[in-house]
Amino acid sequence: MIDRYSRQTLFSGIGEEGQRRLGNSCVVIIGCGALGTIIATSLVRAGVGKIRIIDRDFIEYHNLQRQVLFDEDDIRNELPKAMAAERHLKRVNSSVEIEGIVADVNYSNVERLISGADLILDGLDNFETRFLINDVSLKHKVPWVYGAAISSSGMTMNIIPGETACFRCFSANLPSKGVVHTCDTAGVISSAPFIIGSLESVEAMKILVGAEEINRDLIVIDVWKGMFERLRISTRDDCPACQGKYEFLEGEFEVRATSLCGQDAVQVLNPGVGSISLERLAARLKLVGQVTYNEFMLRFTVDNCEMVVFPDGRAIVKNTNDESLARGLYAKYIGT
Ligand SMILES: [Zn+2]
Repeated sequence: MIDRYSRQTLFSGIGEEGQRRLGNSCVVIIGCGALGTIIATSLVRAGVGKIRIIDRDFIEYHNLQRQVLFDEDDIRNELPKAMAAERHLKRVNSSVEIEGIVADVNYSNVERLISGADLILDGLDNFETRFLINDVSLKHKVPWVYGAAISSSGMTMNIIPGETACFRCFSANLPSKGVVHTCDTAGVISSAPFIIGSLESVEAMKILVGAEEINRDLIVIDVWKGMFERLRISTRDDCPACQGKYEFLEGEFEVRATSLCGQDAVQVLNPGVGSISLERLAARLKLVGQVTYNEFMLRFTVDNCEMVVFPDGRAIVKNTNDESLARGLYAKYIGT
């Protein structure tokens, strides 16, 4: 097995000892879109011992432009991203323990989902969940690597509890809705997430092997303009998270219906529901519209409404960005 990593162990920054450390590490990748697929494939090939990949979404054709782990078969098979990633990556490196988890990360499950992790990697597309990751990272003293990409630009920063500024120091408050561009409004070219995902991966390797060259700045790139910048971010005295106030982890900012980045769709969460039988739901919905389902998800179409439902009671309502309309359709067809 060491042979597989020979070109990496020859590199002095890793070496045989670094490779052993990678093999004994556990990382959690949250979000498996463009960033997440780059990070996951890099770290699986690099031989990180355990990798948990968490994503809430399914795959669509417009993802294939930049989400390197997926193909057209995955779409035809209606595989959620986390399951498709797990299947592809197990064929790449069978010595890595890879666990795909289809779930929406929220304040009620995040501590369980990151348990045992030496490091958390950000493959997310939204601010709310990043603030939650930041809280859980500081509370449990697990470092995380922030990364984001949109249009032709991106940024990344290592957040190491007790050593660097945190994500809330850096971006004091939640941006108000509609102000921040998303992949919906600005688009994205693949090189931006490819570079940010690669930078996140190499920082992960440095942190896991205990390298001294860990990046302590915010790195900002624009691949179209050919720009690469480093900015020092300082800790803020009034940062609630740095003072041990974990408001996101306490659920003070729970989101029940959220417009999804890169899609004309709204996700509806129903934390109280526990789990639902897709088979029974299919039997019910067949009476009013078209239904297909497998063990992972159910797709339901009626009139202009298309909805994908997961066994945890979560639904993605398509062809709308209206959160209250989505909640209404959920209540109408799935029930609350
Ligand atoms: Zn802070």
